[in-house]
Amino acid sequence: MSTPWGYRPLNAREAPTWQLHPQTHAVRAGLARSGFGETSEALYLNSGFTYSTAEEAFDSFADETDHFLYSRFHNPTIAMFEQRLAAIEGADYCVATGSGMSAMFSSLACLVEQGDHVVASASMFSSCHVVITEFLPKWGVTFELVKGNDPSVWARALSKPTKAVFIETPSNPLMDIVDIAMVSDLAHKVGATVIVDNVMASPVLQKPLQLGADVVMYSATKHIDGQGRVLAGAILGSSSYIHEKLIPFTRHSGPSLSPFNAWVLVKSLETMHLRVERMVANAQLIAEYLEARSEIKAVRFPGLKSHPDYELAMKQMSGGGTTIGIEFIGDQSAVFTFMNRLRIIDISNNLGDSKSLITHPATSTHRRLTPEVQAEMGITPSVLRLSVGLEHSSDLIKDLDQALN
Ligand SMILES: *Cc1c(COP(=O)(O)O)cnc(C)c1O
Repeated sequence: MSTPWGYRPLNAREAPTWQLHPQTHAVRAGLARSGFGETSEALYLNSGFTYSTAEEAFDSFADETDHFLYSRFHNPTIAMFEQRLAAIEGADYCVATGSGMSAMFSSLACLVEQGDHVVASASMFSSCHVVITEFLPKWGVTFELVKGNDPSVWARALSKPTKAVFIETPSNPLMDIVDIAMVSDLAHKVGATVIVDNVMASPVLQKPLQLGADVVMYSATKHIDGQGRVLAGAILGSSSYIHEKLIPFTRHSGPSLSPFNAWVLVKSLETMHLRVERMVANAQLIAEYLEARSEIKAVRFPGLKSHPDYELAMKQMSGGGTTIGIEFIGDQSAVFTFMNRLRIIDISNNLGDSKSLITHPATSTHRRLTPEVQAEMGITPSVLRLSVGLEHSSDLIKDLDQALN
């Protein structure tokens, strides 16, 4: 059989000798061109791989470094996404997963065993709350949730042996901030691995590994795709965490990402910085507009001076975020009337999308939590979560204005 028309190995180019900016990594890192020399990343939509000889198969399974085996383990398109995100994050390695929740679950489940203890921040996405407070205890793992940012409270929680610390900052939906450096220092004194759910900040606004955390996880469904198309997740960390803890767990439990979705994401990363920077600018203007409205009791946005952890947020993030928590003076029916009047902003429980989306957490994203736990997190029937997109800010403000009036 002859090789296809025009197929020839590419000459390797010399790598740049200088340190590249994350925006350049977002466009270039991980790119592995085939012999066709295609400009854009190729989609290897396949489950398996072939070997020239039985011996090559034998060698590939014995030493898995330089031959793809099966797409549950790895795949060329998924590897391009993983390498690109790792370069942006400044992490040694990345493992992509089929959803943010499979990333969250795997990042913890690969570490803990019966009798272990986990400490977590109290305000978090409801499915993460379910994993820590309901699933892990079924397998004999105890937990403690810590509210706020008082170092003495964290120090007390971290005074006993702890296997892992899980923090979500900013939190979904009320944008609570946790001090990543302070918690990481305390956690490391008791030998705990610190995992940060960095979904709300995105890789653009916050670099938890540089602040002292050990592991970062994403729902790539949010800002990384950012265009409402695919579910995906990612876990990033050191070589020892990824190769000794995570991969031995994920390769057999199978939370794998589809190569098609990885291909969508590898292209999404190219525009992620542009998109997130514009979303942050829009969100800042909208948060300031909302704060001046008399119908609104409180606006929770880390880019506003009124945020209780404004200074900390500005220290560990390079922008206020893309999502705003809004507490109305009115009750649930007044809040629903406001949502129903919107003409541009969609009612939807996703976030980090190019389309602005609004949701009522108490009856949607955080419905699964008991009213007591919701109240602990500040999620009342008067609270809305607005994810600010890429529409022009003046149209979004006009939409909010006509719905409020
Ligand atoms: C959406 C979300 C997740 C879960 O991600 P999926 O891709 O929906 O599985 C986890 N953490 C936070 C903070 C989220 O917003």
